[in-house]
Amino acid sequence: KTASTLIQRTLKESGVESLAISKPQDVLNALAKFQPDLVLMDMYLPGCTGVEVTRVIRQHEEFLSTPVVYLSADTSIALQVDALRLGGDHFLTKPFNPVVLNAVVKSKIERYRTLRRTMYHDSLTGLLNHNSSKQRVEAMVKAALVDGAPLCVAMLDIDHFKRVNDTYGHPMGDQVIRSVAWLLKQRLRKTDAVGRYGGEEFLVILPQADAERARQLLDRIRMDFSQFMYPVKRTSFSCTFSCGIAQLAPGLSGTALIKKADEALYVAKNQGRNQIVCG
Ligand code: GH3
Ligand code: MG
Ligand code: MG
Repeated sequence: KTASTLIQRTLKESGVESLAISKPQDVLNALAKFQPDLVLMDMYLPGCTGVEVTRVIRQHEEFLSTPVVYLSADTSIALQVDALRLGGDHFLTKPFNPVVLNAVVKSKIERYRTLRRTMYHDSLTGLLNHNSSKQRVEAMVKAALVDGAPLCVAMLDIDHFKRVNDTYGHPMGDQVIRSVAWLLKQRLRKTDAVGRYGGEEFLVILPQADAERARQLLDRIRMDFSQFMYPVKRTSFSCTFSCGIAQLAPGLSGTALIKKADEALYVAKNQGRNQIVCG
């Protein structure tokens, strides 16, 4: 406890926020909630080793490339090599040197962030890409079920987007896609998540929101988006989107939740577009 407090203070001094956990069984839940850029792992934990915990972490695709740095008083080379071979990224010895600790942590975090931007994000909009959107839904569903908190998933699709491309050209279409991404990023909270699920399809995850709240929030975005004017030559045009919302219920998986939102979107399209339907 004393050691972890000291480490946390050292990290905080160089602007790194951290969360300390002492029970290995809490690790997956803490990772899902805190979404860290790096894990600092003690070599010896109650009932297991740090290497074992890392192997559990690595079994989850979303944490496959999260850097794991070991901290251990044990300076044995064989142990260090083993730790690195089994999914670790770096090995620091205790007592730790604050300057070295901060330098290692910060450089690993920076590299991981760069890697993550290209691996998990869409290059046109900077939003989560298709795969990471799905993974984020699964992770947030798990966390919401543990907390017994509400959660909604929304699927948005731009209406008659093919016409935009056909009439004004593909680069203009890209501009419209980017503006939807920008609007969503502007309006949503830091704890929400947005992904580009398909070409002109977006997935929004709203934790701590029931269907009614999600509908209100997205309806305001829908109305504001419909007011956007895109200038072309001497004229201009506007677009709309349709949206389907699904609220998490016990027993629903992330995949099932996305499917429900997609079905609601289909209903919104059939009812005339530019509207929101809760499934
Ligand atoms: P609906 O209202 O039923 O959604 O009609 P829609 O025309 O939007 O639907 P559809 O799925 O038929 O067309 C989507 C179009 O989006 C087809 C594809 O060419 C275009 N598209 C997909 N990705 C991109 C992209 O990255 N940039 C641009 N400009 N267009 C894209
Ligand atoms: Mg579509
Ligand atoms: Mg469309």
